[in-house]
Amino acid sequence: MTRSAPHRPRWRSLLLLALLLTPLLWPVQQLAERYYSSELLEQNRQTLDLYVANLLGTLHRFEVLPQILGDLPALRGMLLQPQEPAALNGANRLLKRMREQTGADVIYLMDPSGKTLAASNWDQGDSFVGRNFAFRPYFREAIAGRLGRFFGLGTTSGKRGYFFAAAVQDGEQTLGVLVVKVDLDDIETLWGNTPEQLLVTDGNGVVILTSRPDWRFRASRPLDAAERAAIAINQPYPSQAPSPLALDETAWITQSRALPETGWTVSILAPSAQVARPVRTAVAIGAATLLVLILLLGLLLQRRRHYLERIALDARARRELEIRVLERTRDLEALNSRLKDEVLEREHAQQELLQAQDELVQAGKLSALGTMSASISHELNQPLAAIRSYAENAGVLLDHQRTDEVRGNLKLIGELTARMASIIAHLRAFARRDRHAPESVALQPALDDALALLAKRRRAMEVELIRDLPDATLWVQAGETRLRQVLGNLLANALDALSEKAPPRRIWLSAAQTADGIQLTLRDNGPGFSVEALSRAREPFFTTKTSAQGLGLGLAICDTLMRALGGELLLANHPEGGALLTLRLRAAAPGVNLQPSEDHSA
Ligand code: ADP
Repeated sequence: MTRSAPHRPRWRSLLLLALLLTPLLWPVQQLAERYYSSELLEQNRQTLDLYVANLLGTLHRFEVLPQILGDLPALRGMLLQPQEPAALNGANRLLKRMREQTGADVIYLMDPSGKTLAASNWDQGDSFVGRNFAFRPYFREAIAGRLGRFFGLGTTSGKRGYFFAAAVQDGEQTLGVLVVKVDLDDIETLWGNTPEQLLVTDGNGVVILTSRPDWRFRASRPLDAAERAAIAINQPYPSQAPSPLALDETAWITQSRALPETGWTVSILAPSAQVARPVRTAVAIGAATLLVLILLLGLLLQRRRHYLERIALDARARRELEIRVLERTRDLEALNSRLKDEVLEREHAQQELLQAQDELVQAGKLSALGTMSASISHELNQPLAAIRSYAENAGVLLDHQRTDEVRGNLKLIGELTARMASIIAHLRAFARRDRHAPESVALQPALDDALALLAKRRRAMEVELIRDLPDATLWVQAGETRLRQVLGNLLANALDALSEKAPPRRIWLSAAQTADGIQLTLRDNGPGFSVEALSRAREPFFTTKTSAQGLGLGLAICDTLMRALGGELLLANHPEGGALLTLRLRAAAPGVNLQPSEDHSA
């Protein structure tokens, strides 16, 4: 079994799946990018709004100042009489006070030629007093009657400033120009130390305010000839030709707002990394989730595969079991039919055996008959000869009218024929082919029957019966009639023997179950067997009795019957005298047939 073989391709296919699913991270990245950029843009827009509001607020605060100040009588008076030292001094002090109150950088007053007459910094080393700023565009604007606006570096201070200028009018006459310079350095320093950068460019695209000092006064776009010429004249920057500012477009996310009144553009620049970093994190989380999902899927598939494998294994085991059961069933069926055949064979053999046994018994009987035939012919010839002589004698006696003697002869003939009939009856019983199979017969009732038949004679002879029989019925294999015949014969012989002696006369009956079967003993206290009778008593027609008393067939028939039943008859003399006969019978299973079932033709 190559169980681990399918593992690797599965994980390889999972890897392939992971590669196929990787493009799914693209929309994740897009979404994250869009989300974080919009967040950043929104946040920066608010910052930008705030900054712009602050910037505009500062500028607006000073926007109206030149006009208001230009209306002050002290300043007008000074412009009308510039040679008056007291007026000049008063103007200088006023401007200084105004500057302190408003927070402007410098406030100064020029005559129509552009020469500075009074200034808030009149008493300082970098005093504007006496200097001519006619070249500045704000002066030209103010002289033209408009509000002058200008961004530039101070030519004396070198500081950046925003200039507002307005003409001081007296009716139609322009008396001078009042200028307020606003310091923008503070605005720049307002910007904290944040990753976002600030960029304010003027109309020329040159950076004038920024949180990055290295970007200051650099051109965010190429300058054309007119712009370059204006720069040369107005000198707003420290250098005549600002170096270009080449910003990496991809490194910054820029948001801008134009300020139309100043011509400026305020921009906020956020490093792209501020979006890229969270996007990378989001993509990483997405990838990790995907990986976990794929791993889970892999585990799930593996578990499913194990489950399927187990089911397949179970099914295989079940199939094998079924096959084994089928094989075993087939074997058992074969065995069964073989056993059936064997049983049939045995039954057949048994039948043949029974038949053979039957035939053997019959053959035994026939051979016994053969040995008997001589005695029979002798036994029958004797009375026949006697009958013939009595009959011939009767004929002669009839001729002589001796009827009484004839009657005596006829009586003798009758007796002789009765004796012959008796012999023949015994022979019929002996020769009868017994077709009945041995059956279960109760011993005690059979014995009682036999005793009952001889009871009258036994009582007449005063024979004492001593029984030693168990209460429990003893069952033997026999035929009811045959057993009674045997018992009757033996009891009759005992009574015959006892009749030869004087009382006390006794018969002992005992029976017991032995290991081999049932044993019945019958003892009398008669004379017992003579030596000759003991060896020959079983021969047919052997008798020690007179022809009227016995035929000599009793024991012969008993012996044959006992053998046919599978038992035996033993003859002996008891040590204390008298005959001792032993019947050995086969034990049988308890039965019910207490009534004779054989025909009584015998
Ligand atoms: P029968 O009784 O007609 O003589 P049996 O075959 O029955 O023929 O007996 C044969 C002989 O065996 C008897 O003649 C007798 O001598 C002897 N015999 C049988 N039973 C006894 C017995 N109980 N006691 C003494 N002898 C016996």
